[in-house]
This record gives sequence, structure tokens and C-alpha cells, in this order.
Amino acid sequence: MSYVKLVVQRYDPERDEKPRFQEYIVPYRKGMTVLDAILYARDYLDHSIGVRFSCRMASCGSCGMKINGKPALACYTQVSELGTERIVVQPMDNFPVIKDLATDFEEFFEKHKELMPYLVREDRAEQENPKSEYLMKPEELERILQFTYCIKCGLCYSVCPTVGTDKLFPGPQAIAQAYRYVEDVRDEGGETRLNILDNPHGIWRCHFAGSCSAVCPKGVDPALGIQLLRRYVMRGKAPRKKGEGSKPFTK
Ligand code: SF4
Repeated sequence: MSYVKLVVQRYDPERDEKPRFQEYIVPYRKGMTVLDAILYARDYLDHSIGVRFSCRMASCGSCGMKINGKPALACYTQVSELGTERIVVQPMDNFPVIKDLATDFEEFFEKHKELMPYLVREDRAEQENPKSEYLMKPEELERILQFTYCIKCGLCYSVCPTVGTDKLFPGPQAIAQAYRYVEDVRDEGGETRLNILDNPHGIWRCHFAGSCSAVCPKGVDPALGIQLLRRYVMRGKAPRKKGEGSKPFTK
């Protein structure tokens, strides 16, 4: 392969009536990622291409997009693995387009925030002036570990058929993160999260398509997190009440 034909979906909602495709010929080099190809096009052929990226190592979750129809991180996708010299890049579905490949995450993060993606403790003073660590047993950590790898790239949200049809559904990322905190032995906010999720647009709307888990670049299984969290919603009982979280370590 000596070159790549990069086809970029172009769309500026403030100026364009509808999306169109534009082609760029990009010289191929060994080890080139799809993000490298896009940045070559942007830097040397057309400065107006809209794309978001940052870390270039699948850690920040900024460069999610559809690559030849499949959602993926552009920085984590080698051109050579696609097996074609024609690469079509498009913005993720289920997100409003800001410009070209850059999508708006405001709604996604609002839903994430609503489910309190942090440790909730009854004793605020203890949190604000910590005097020692909270320790966890290995088996307690094991229950939540894979969910802590989420980088909030939104790929799972973009393929979720329920998000596509119900804008009030929190989405796989937010619910899986709710499970991560409900299951955390240090947390005491489980009841509040279960109450938020137990409604007609909440956790019951997931019909287990499983596409969220299939596309996650970090090995997180959001569909599993949703099913595990449902057990608590069904029982109407979080694993811990306020004041029942694990205590700070003392010698
Ligand atoms: S669960 Fe996976 S796909 Fe979804 S936002 Fe987190 S890292 Fe991305």
C-alpha cells in the first residue's frame, strides 16, 4: 500500500444543509493509524477538517468515530488492519455533530453526572479531610475492576439502539458506571442511584443488544454491568445504606 484514499464525512450544522463526503489522497507509511491519516489530510491538504483528538494512545477517549462503518478509536486503529486503501470516516451515531468528525458530548456527560460517578459518603468531613485510606479486599476490587477502565469515549453510547430511540435513556456507559460505584464497598450512594434508574426510561429500557460491549476499546462489558445492577433494582435494595460503607483503615 503506497497511499490511502481517505473519505471524510463533512458537515457543519451552521452552514451545510446536509452531510457530504470529501476524498483525500494520503501517503501511507508503516504503522500509520487512521488518526495519523486524518491529521495528515488536515495538516497538509485541508485545514478545515473538524476532528477531536488528544492522547493518541487510547487513553483519553477523544477520537471515537465510525471507521468504514464501525465505531472505533481512530488512534487505536491501524490502517493496515482495515485491509483496504479506501477508508471512510464518519462521526459517531447518537451524538450531535459539532463539525465533521467532532461530536458534542454534553448530553452524554450530563447523563453520566446524574448517576453520581464518584464515591458518596454520609460523612462529608471524613472525605474532605481524609486521615487514612479506604482499603479493599482483592475480591472486592475484582468485582468492579473492569468497569474502572472506562475512558468515556462514547463508542458504546453511539451503537446503543435504545439511546437511538429514547433520548431519556442514560445509556450503557452511565449505567455501567453506576454499577461500578453501587458495587464499590466504600460507597453509600447506591439507593439514590437505584431510584434514578428505576423508571420507564431507565435501566429496564435496555434490551441487551450487547453492541455496547462488542465495541468497547478498553474491554469493559457495559451490558454485563447493566444486568448486574438490575439485580439490585429488582430487589429494591442497594448493597449498602448510608453509613454502611467500608471504614477508613486504622492500625
Ligand atoms: S464503556 Fe467502553 S465504549 Fe463505553 S465509554 Fe467506556 S470505554 Fe468507551
